[in-house]
Amino acid sequence: MSAKAPAHPNAQHKLVLLLPDGLRDDTARGYMGYLQAMLEAGRASWSTLSCELPSLSRPLYATLITGQRPLDHGIISNAQPGQRVAATLFDCLDENGLRSAVAAYHWFYELLAGEVFEPLRHRHALPGRGVVGASWYFEDEYPDSHLLADAEHLRALHQPDFLLVHPMGPDHAGHQHGGESTAYALSARKLDMLLAHAVPAWHAQGYDVLLTSDHGMHADRMHGGPLREEREVPLVWLPHRQESQAETPLPQRQIDVCGFMVERLLQGRRS
Ligand SMILES: [Zn+2]
Repeated sequence: MSAKAPAHPNAQHKLVLLLPDGLRDDTARGYMGYLQAMLEAGRASWSTLSCELPSLSRPLYATLITGQRPLDHGIISNAQPGQRVAATLFDCLDENGLRSAVAAYHWFYELLAGEVFEPLRHRHALPGRGVVGASWYFEDEYPDSHLLADAEHLRALHQPDFLLVHPMGPDHAGHQHGGESTAYALSARKLDMLLAHAVPAWHAQGYDVLLTSDHGMHADRMHGGPLREEREVPLVWLPHRQESQAETPLPQRQIDVCGFMVERLLQGRRS
């Protein structure tokens, strides 16, 4: 077979969900030059989403993997450790024979496994639900560079259909210094430089990349409310081969991101 043969029309889609925590849309647009280069070259499309409320991490992690609002899936506070959510993206993929891997903050483990995360037991524990490889971190200052290396290790080892990559850098910098600080901007700049290496590597392996965030960050070093700074997050679609806008309409609401990913991943499965 020629290496230049066109992809089979029903070739299976593979997807990386890149979820920088607490990354504001204006910060991503203003400081992430690699992402902007992809946009300017017509190799990415970018929309702004207004996150669901409350604009807090644990509720919105659950929203992104269930497609439901916090009031509907029931995770409405960060203080719900060990509580499981039902009917996630992972379950849907598993039912269709697709495999997932996750490099993420330990709250994702809790949402999937339904038990409180214990570092000495669960660092690489599998929560079931079609997850074949996992690496969970549990300190907010865990470097994005290490997290991306964890993710790439899992990807190379397991060749999953779906890879969740969840760096904490922007959220951590924002809580320390505020969403208008140079430290917060620097976290986005540094992440962008890491992505300039990671995204081409994922593209080369046939993965499409969807970047979005759970919530934004106020100058007062917190988030949770409905202010624009706390709500507006980027949604950047970076397919591994060039696509027209019409070919892949982007979700306009955060609750539609889950369905977008499922649809995309299952497309290649349909005859
Ligand atoms: Zn936060």
